[in-house]
Amino acid sequence: MQRITILGATGSIGVSTLDVLARHPERYSVYALSAHSRVDELAAQCERFRPARAVVGSAAAAARLSALLQAKGLRTEVEYGEQALCAVASAAEVDAVMAAIVGAAGLAPTLAAARAGKKVLLANKEALVMSGQLFMDAVRDSGAVLLPIDSEHNAIFQCLPHGYGRAPEAAGVAKVLLTASGGPFLTRAVDTLDAVTPEQACKHPNWVMGRKISVDSATMMNKGLEVIEAHWLFGAPADLIEVVIHPQSVIHSMVSYVDGSVLAQLGNPDMRTPIAHALAWPERIASGVAQLDLTQMGGLQFERPDFVRFPCLALAFDALRAGGTAPALLNAANEVAVQAFLDQRIGFRQIDRVIAQVMDSVPHGAASSIAAVMAQDATARAAAETYIGSHAK
Ligand code: NDP
Ligand code: MG
Repeated sequence: MQRITILGATGSIGVSTLDVLARHPERYSVYALSAHSRVDELAAQCERFRPARAVVGSAAAAARLSALLQAKGLRTEVEYGEQALCAVASAAEVDAVMAAIVGAAGLAPTLAAARAGKKVLLANKEALVMSGQLFMDAVRDSGAVLLPIDSEHNAIFQCLPHGYGRAPEAAGVAKVLLTASGGPFLTRAVDTLDAVTPEQACKHPNWVMGRKISVDSATMMNKGLEVIEAHWLFGAPADLIEVVIHPQSVIHSMVSYVDGSVLAQLGNPDMRTPIAHALAWPERIASGVAQLDLTQMGGLQFERPDFVRFPCLALAFDALRAGGTAPALLNAANEVAVQAFLDQRIGFRQIDRVIAQVMDSVPHGAASSIAAVMAQDATARAAAETYIGSHAK
């Protein structure tokens, strides 16, 4: 029986994870669940999965959750705040941690799980983008097992049967091919993009996801963050990573080898597949996802990304090549810009301008400590807010 903590249990990944766990009660039990503010949803999850601990974002949310749980006669211990998140991620009772908080808020607890040597199921790509070297060092030093949940990285992991943890060149890898759907605006006229609404941006053609990652998919910053994520997870230099637009989202990524072989992982676009893969690895368990019907698939298309249509992709490659805290700057500016877009304070095409402005105006430094990374994160957020304040619609 493996005991699991889910950070971000009420989100899209958290709910999919609970769906997979519920199919295998003989293998998994839930140790702790976390949410930020969706207390009612968390209370319902606690009633169903009976965790020992539950963590929320504030004292007020904790009081409300306690009252709801008491009314149901549940004895789940309720806590709040970042320290409590770190505690449930690193507790001795925990075997595996699903890191599915969105954004920089997930860094501290995800790192706590890595430092405690847990099996870390990583959905929270922003944590790795911000602090890649420090995070990978923590994994190595503690002996933690790091398994990617992001569908592309999970696919690449599966296409590296003998290569995970080795330098890709030494494993004969010629290219890591990250597929991208291109999001909802792949073919929309570029000069009409500034008029798109948050609802249009959040309507992904193939995946149902949280709002932040949905906007990231529409700008393709999601793919940019994934390029950086792939760099750290697989030790791949920027030149070894190529983005391929594949609108059907059936191939989730590929690895091409020096002998001419290309390995791909295919499946229906449902996050329960990579979640079940990582939970059970190196075994396999049912995920609830239907088998892919190849005869119903029609054609699969591939094309090169258009860096003019998707400037965020170029900004992410620039940040990766710049190194140090540049990816943390990129990530922080992006989080602020996406939130401003969702709040309708800026237009869609201003997202990349905010990020470019922050990257140009805030000097990056060495990512020598988590404190240095967090200081850059704070500086970038302030610079992004200032820029947005003077350019708001
Ligand atoms: P959601 O927005 O659906 O869920 C986010 C979760 O994090 C919720 O449980 C939310 O709580 C919690 N949360 C939000 N803000 C904070 C905070 N400040 N402190 C603590 N907890 C917080 O996001 P997704 O599930 O879509 O994404 C989660 C992560 O997984 C992201 O990093 C994303 O990039 C990554 N990912 C997601 C994929 C997907 O298909 N959705 C695919 C690949 C990667 P509450 O509900 O109370 O607000
Ligand atoms: Mg992905």
